[in-house]
Amino acid sequence: MGKIGFAAKSLCKSALQSSNCPYCGSHATSLMERKPLVLQLRKCEACKLQYRFPKDDAAENYHFYQDAYRESAVTDLPAASEVPHHVATSFRKIGLDLTDRLKTITAIAPIGRLIDYGSSWGYGVYQFRKAGYDAYGFEISRTRVEFGRSALQVELSDSIASFPDTSFDVVYSAHCLEHIPNPDSALRQFPRLLKPGGHLFIYVPNCGGAEARKLGVRWGQMIGEKHVSAFTAEFFHRNLPKYGFQEVQFLSSPYSSRPQKYEAASLEGEELLVTGVRG
Ligand SMILES: [Zn+2]
Repeated sequence: MGKIGFAAKSLCKSALQSSNCPYCGSHATSLMERKPLVLQLRKCEACKLQYRFPKDDAAENYHFYQDAYRESAVTDLPAASEVPHHVATSFRKIGLDLTDRLKTITAIAPIGRLIDYGSSWGYGVYQFRKAGYDAYGFEISRTRVEFGRSALQVELSDSIASFPDTSFDVVYSAHCLEHIPNPDSALRQFPRLLKPGGHLFIYVPNCGGAEARKLGVRWGQMIGEKHVSAFTAEFFHRNLPKYGFQEVQFLSSPYSSRPQKYEAASLEGEELLVTGVRG
């Protein structure tokens, strides 16, 4: 949607919506910053979620990701004829090489069954498979699912319910949660999908880091049409244990060491990694 259309829609919604927290429902929320023309960054005092107001509902969000969402190579599908070249060069030219993430993940999670939650067209699933994981992907957009199945021969589905309970050793979700109107819909899937002892890896923009503090809503990764939540380590530290996760730990880019406990971690980088073990 163009900027004017998005602003007009936001203006209409802000007149009709309650500003309560989209995650826990609390009305104890405060305005952190405004972004022209009508967007607000709000923070829930109860659960610590930072979110965009006006909010999206799930149906609106579903249609946006089927039809309108664009995010460079993540969503813009390459020509099928270019895919062999991207595979041969480990997706580097389009900025989708996961070598660094794989180093972090393989140091923590043994090789096993892995699901990429929010897999787009499967470039991650492909690289996890190559690294030895029995990898699958869940992606909301049917177009991207069909492209990945055909171009990369990877197993992708647009139905999270099609993946059985406690069937995975690893859940990996990168730059997905900040797009979902209520992150609970994804967070509740993670312990369902994981075996006891299974590992969770969440990557999101670090909206508690140095760049986010310096630029606020002027930081590109902060709230906007695409990003409805602005996550901080504080949110996951407080809420992931409710989903049965233990040993919740954090690291921010660059990833030169292992994740650490919330109290000990220095988290100033632009990206946040959250890890946990299902109890
Ligand atoms: Zn809340």
